[in-house]
Amino acid sequence: MAKKIIITIDGWSSCGKSTLAKQLAKELGYVYVDSGAMYRAITLYFLRNNIDLAEKKEVKEALKSVSLEFVFNPKRNNSEIYLNGENVEYLIRDLVIAEKVSDVAAIKEVREFAVAQQKKMGDKKGIVMDGRDIGTVVFPKAELKIFMTADNAVRVQRRFKELYDKNPNITIDEVKNNLEMRDYIDSNREISPLRKAKDAIELDNTSLTEKEQFNKAFSWAKERMKIK
Ligand code: C5P
Repeated sequence: MAKKIIITIDGWSSCGKSTLAKQLAKELGYVYVDSGAMYRAITLYFLRNNIDLAEKKEVKEALKSVSLEFVFNPKRNNSEIYLNGENVEYLIRDLVIAEKVSDVAAIKEVREFAVAQQKKMGDKKGIVMDGRDIGTVVFPKAELKIFMTADNAVRVQRRFKELYDKNPNITIDEVKNNLEMRDYIDSNREISPLRKAKDAIELDNTSLTEKEQFNKAFSWAKERMKIK
């Protein structure tokens, strides 16, 4: 009989982490959690309320008014994030949010707030979570850890395509600069910087199709689910 495991997927921005995580969760009947959506929703709240990121007290107070929830939308076959009861899944994908999110996610209080909730979500296992510190900090004992990479140019093209569909005024340079900035801040911040966990498997998908990438990851998952 298969046992339930925790699968973590970390890596650089726009490597296709969420695509793989969703496919794995669907195939295994697991819960998928997009941890980046939590940092993005907190960023949206801070922007709306003009929170000064340099003021720790203000940040701490603001977090008391932030309630995050993932709700499954059967029409889209996807979990969507709610901020204080409002569906913000689409708003948080905007470049305005992407430009601020790494600064917000570097704040200790913000990370403590998000990580505590993420850890709870893994209580019953049977979960796939993607992000930057999931295999290193949130679930250091996860049975399967994947660290994704892909060539920069490929990542920029993928994200550009995604954003262009919603906003045809967006330029390649804007997308490229944003990815480079986020990768830099995410991997150089003091608390929980983006790192490959020692026991993570690296998956470079620059020249893999979605199917090939899924097949690799799924075989690793099946191997870890066997009861020894
Ligand atoms: O995954 P996504 O690109 O939506 O994440 C947005 C941002 O949230 C990242 O650039 C990073 O700053 C932050 N993040 C994080 N830790 C995570 C997930 C996301 O710091 N586990």
